[in-house]
Amino acid sequence: MNNAEFQKSLEKYADVIVKIGVNLRAGQRLFIAAGITDYPLVRAITKSAYTNGAKLVHVFYGDDEVHHTRMKMSSRENLTDVPSWIVPAYTSIIKDGDAYIGITSENPDLLADVDPEAIAIYRKTMGTKMRKPMQAIMRDAINWCVISYPAADWAKKVFPKMSTEKAQEKLWEAIFQTCRVDQRDPVAAWEKHIKELTARSTYLNKKRYTALHYKAPGTDLTVGLPSQHLWIAAQSKAENGISFTANLPTEEVFTMPHKGKVDGVVSASRPLVVSGKTVEDFALTFEKGKVVKVTAKKNGETLQKLIETDEGGSHLGEVALVPNSSPISRRGHLFYNTLFDENAASHIALGAAYRFTMKGGGKLTEAEFQKRGGNHSIIHTDFMIGSKDMDIDGILANGKREPVMRKGEWAFKI
Ligand code: ZN
Ligand code: ZN
Repeated sequence: MNNAEFQKSLEKYADVIVKIGVNLRAGQRLFIAAGITDYPLVRAITKSAYTNGAKLVHVFYGDDEVHHTRMKMSSRENLTDVPSWIVPAYTSIIKDGDAYIGITSENPDLLADVDPEAIAIYRKTMGTKMRKPMQAIMRDAINWCVISYPAADWAKKVFPKMSTEKAQEKLWEAIFQTCRVDQRDPVAAWEKHIKELTARSTYLNKKRYTALHYKAPGTDLTVGLPSQHLWIAAQSKAENGISFTANLPTEEVFTMPHKGKVDGVVSASRPLVVSGKTVEDFALTFEKGKVVKVTAKKNGETLQKLIETDEGGSHLGEVALVPNSSPISRRGHLFYNTLFDENAASHIALGAAYRFTMKGGGKLTEAEFQKRGGNHSIIHTDFMIGSKDMDIDGILANGKREPVMRKGEWAFKI
């Protein structure tokens, strides 16, 4: 790709983010959270946003290195300190119905040399202080979107044998391909893709399965679904009335499990990066919704620590179906970034359930939501369980089983 071609692709990517991702309305404010390395994309998004009538574009720039230095050098006590303006800033964004874009470009190994205890304190502090605004975003109070930028350290992690420049080029290519930016009309391609995914979620919503049964080597798991569960794909409607696509790329159709009705054993089909450490070849055993056993070939204690973050950390909050032939899976490499890796395979998440995956979930009190099977936690960590060897059945209220996926692919027509 020469420079002119790259600029053209960058502009197309920015347009997809603004039009399909947040679906910015004329007159809306747009807030962007990004790393300092991500500025070329931030500038392209800004241009696209103003072209589409943005009232104001404001950027919160962070720096991974500054964060790393704090995590290494700060006392544990000082790690519980949060700048006083942060929570009010996010609260006002939500109150005013503004649009929000988060750019991920983080080096997955950034905190690998940091004391896990320090990371746990930081995570808990941010999770607690930011709880209200994060919950508002998780229930789709505003139109928001998470996208990525191939920063140098992340690109080197994905393509370790290449020079930094080559690795970044290669990761750009992967992002452009999986986000359909390489297609002639990316916005139209996304509209078609969203239509197909929505037809899948509509089919599953009509079925009202009471449970899903997963079968694969090392996996025999039954996941109960709350009676009010709602399958979601690609697009959501925010409380400010705007339909948006929260993740680019997205290939998943997902809902919430019943936090108390998960039984059996599940083996991960890909490694999971937790706090800079890669957990490999792990399996979880569930009883009545709760993790009762963790086994792992590598870094099992890191996963155990994550699960122990709070009560909800040992229960599931999401079940997502992704065909094994998804464009991300076909690339055949790990991205070390959930935004991509979760779209490579069917997955489940430890921790919080999304309110919008339960009918009327946004209006329930915390206690009502949990009583109906919704999980609450400050964590939400997806891990991959799907493979070409996975079969999934849907179980109807009368106990009858129907194929949902066979050998990792959709088993029903739309
Ligand atoms: Zn997911
Ligand atoms: Zn998730």
